[in-house]
Amino acid sequence: MTQIHQKTPVQDKQIAIIGAGPGGLTLARLLQMQGAKVKVFERDINQFARVQGATLNLNEGSGLSALRAAGLMEAFEHAYRPGAEKMLFVDAQAAVIIDELGAESNDRPEIDRGPLRNLLLAALAEDTVVWDARFSSLQRTDESVEISFENGDQFTADLLIAADGANSKIRPYITPLAPEYSGVTVLEGNVSDVANTIPELYELLDGGKVCVLDDEKTLFIVLKGDGSVAFYTGHKADQQWSTQCGIDFSDRAQVLAWFQQEFKGWSNIWAELFRHASLPFVPRPQFCAPLDQSWPSLPNLTMLGDAAHVMPPYAGEGVNMAMQDALVLATQLLNPDMSDMQTAIAAYEIEMRSRNAETAAETMQFTRVFHSYEAVPFFREFFTGNQDVLLQNDSFRKAA
Ligand SMILES: Cc1cc2nc3c(=O)[nH]c(=O)nc-3n(C[C@H](O)[C@H](O)[C@H](O)COP(=O)(O)OP(=O)(O)OC[C@H]3O[C@@H](n4cnc5c(N)ncnc54)[C@H](O)[C@@H]3O)c2cc1C
Repeated sequence: MTQIHQKTPVQDKQIAIIGAGPGGLTLARLLQMQGAKVKVFERDINQFARVQGATLNLNEGSGLSALRAAGLMEAFEHAYRPGAEKMLFVDAQAAVIIDELGAESNDRPEIDRGPLRNLLLAALAEDTVVWDARFSSLQRTDESVEISFENGDQFTADLLIAADGANSKIRPYITPLAPEYSGVTVLEGNVSDVANTIPELYELLDGGKVCVLDDEKTLFIVLKGDGSVAFYTGHKADQQWSTQCGIDFSDRAQVLAWFQQEFKGWSNIWAELFRHASLPFVPRPQFCAPLDQSWPSLPNLTMLGDAAHVMPPYAGEGVNMAMQDALVLATQLLNPDMSDMQTAIAAYEIEMRSRNAETAAETMQFTRVFHSYEAVPFFREFFTGNQDVLLQNDSFRKAA
């Protein structure tokens, strides 16, 4: 491993990262490659805790650039899923609207969340990650950060980076600005061995994804490498819907009854997902960080990924932004031209906020169009090459 030769802002500093998601692990790898002292603390009980969630597309210029800088493209070539980027758009009756998108292009290759975590973990020095370490609080002075965990453990760091995802417990130590509700709530589920449990759906998926668009609602179904599917509905609801609707999300009959009512008239093939999903279903109200958020940079505490700028999943950019944050932050922290950590953090945060504001604005437009009656004509135009359709058409602009 290369050692640091010129003095950088993090030379001889103990760095702590909270969260072993794609953002935190990419940062740990990039820092460690240059000899920095890094520990990652993760609440999952161990490396083998089941990693849920849909397949992730990694994009050129962001997620893939970070992996390339981390020297992990070869590992990625072994772990990604060629063909998984194929997306079929259908209506509520499973009639095809747009077919085989992305099948020919390879600039947004897909990888399952578990294999992505594994390849990042394999690249770290042994004992970098401390498992079963759920962050609970911190005490900070300008010299150090005392971190406390729910199991009673403590750790002292010179620099702490929050990579603890959408409901970050560390973000409030940096800014009081909270993410805002997008108006859409997702209900997520998983079905194993879909080839045998729902063969008709397996055929429709054809190795890729299905997006159902109708009635101002969405249903995304994603085939994973282990033969299971991850799926998530999207519908407009009050922010408190998941806690106030009275549905017990571990009760299949209640959730199925809700789906059949809320998605009335939709083909029975979609209800099959609810009949076979593992329990519980997970409701996720979708939030977006304020587009104009800003805060004064601290000398030894910052954040990246969903902790810094959560956004709904409808543009497929969240993981890419998290990994690009890691690349930009590592570059600044390892830059000998930066006089100290606060200067490096400030340079990172300015770039990170402006890049993510742009991506989040676009993501919110997609979120609104996906859940509008304009969705089908919009995506027909969008995917036949008119990528500026959002800006050009009055009714789309209204939906956005
Ligand atoms: C349904 C759905 C589909 C999505 N699809 C896509 C897609 O196709 N493409 C895309 O780019 N993005 C997608 N996203 C978004 C993407 O998953 C996130 O943007 C991305 O995972 C953010 O990475 P992260 O490292 O910042 O956070 P996370 O991946 O959320 O990782 C945070 C880590 O911190 C740990 N943690 C949390 N709290 C604590 C604590 N208190 N103490 C210790 N550890 C803690 C967690 O266990 C986790 O390991 C999707 C999101 C959802 C909900």
